[in-house]
Amino acid sequence: MSRTAIARLHLAVPPTNREGRDCMPPLDTPLRTIELAGQVGFCFGVKRAIHLAEEALESNGTVYISGDLVHNATVTSALEARGLVRTDTLNDKKEGTVIVRAHGLPAGEIRRLRDSGLQVVDATCPIVHHAQQAALTLEQEGYQVVIIGDANHAEIRGIVGTMTTQPLVIDSIEELRAAKASHRLKRKVGVLFQTTHALELCKDIVSELVFMCKDVRIINTICRPVQQRQDAAVDVARRVDLMIIVG
Ligand code: SF4
Repeated sequence: MSRTAIARLHLAVPPTNREGRDCMPPLDTPLRTIELAGQVGFCFGVKRAIHLAEEALESNGTVYISGDLVHNATVTSALEARGLVRTDTLNDKKEGTVIVRAHGLPAGEIRRLRDSGLQVVDATCPIVHHAQQAALTLEQEGYQVVIIGDANHAEIRGIVGTMTTQPLVIDSIEELRAAKASHRLKRKVGVLFQTTHALELCKDIVSELVFMCKDVRIINTICRPVQQRQDAAVDVARRVDLMIIVG
């Protein structure tokens, strides 16, 4: 079945409920149409991170990670069974391998891990890496960097930790207005986005910000695979009676 195809549900074996009783609908029940969104499944950044983790486990045995490699219990459990060790205290590890998640880490943190004797497998997604570079470029060109995103998200902490100045991180129009009112927003600003942020929210904030400043440069760091998934989800939601998101 192609991903966009509309599939009729054909059941070769009558389904049963938890008590084992036949729960096949009556014959006159209308067939339901199940539609799969055009974009589903792991993005390439996560697939790449899983692949790098599997490679590291094959050649290095125990591999440490801070946080989840992927928000999927099945995949995480399978990797842990092969030797992936989740830890919140990388600081006390002096040998072995550590894998950096697709969200990335501050550049200084990666250097510190290498200097402490750990072998580092950097699975930072190339799109996140591009966002880190965009922040550095704006900073070097004299812009006040404004990141639209969640200050507590690992990706944003990684971007902020890669910079030498403190950017402004805002996540709502109210936060933008508060920054303007308290004179924390400068006249020359460079804007980038958390890669996975909702496009509509970013648009709303940017459309107000451009009239608050004199010189605005925007680098679009929104992740295209995420944008395509959001568009596909909206598209399906418009046409179906019930939408089920597995994840
Ligand atoms: S930036 Fe996009 S492609 Fe990369 S890991 Fe995040 S969601 Fe996936």
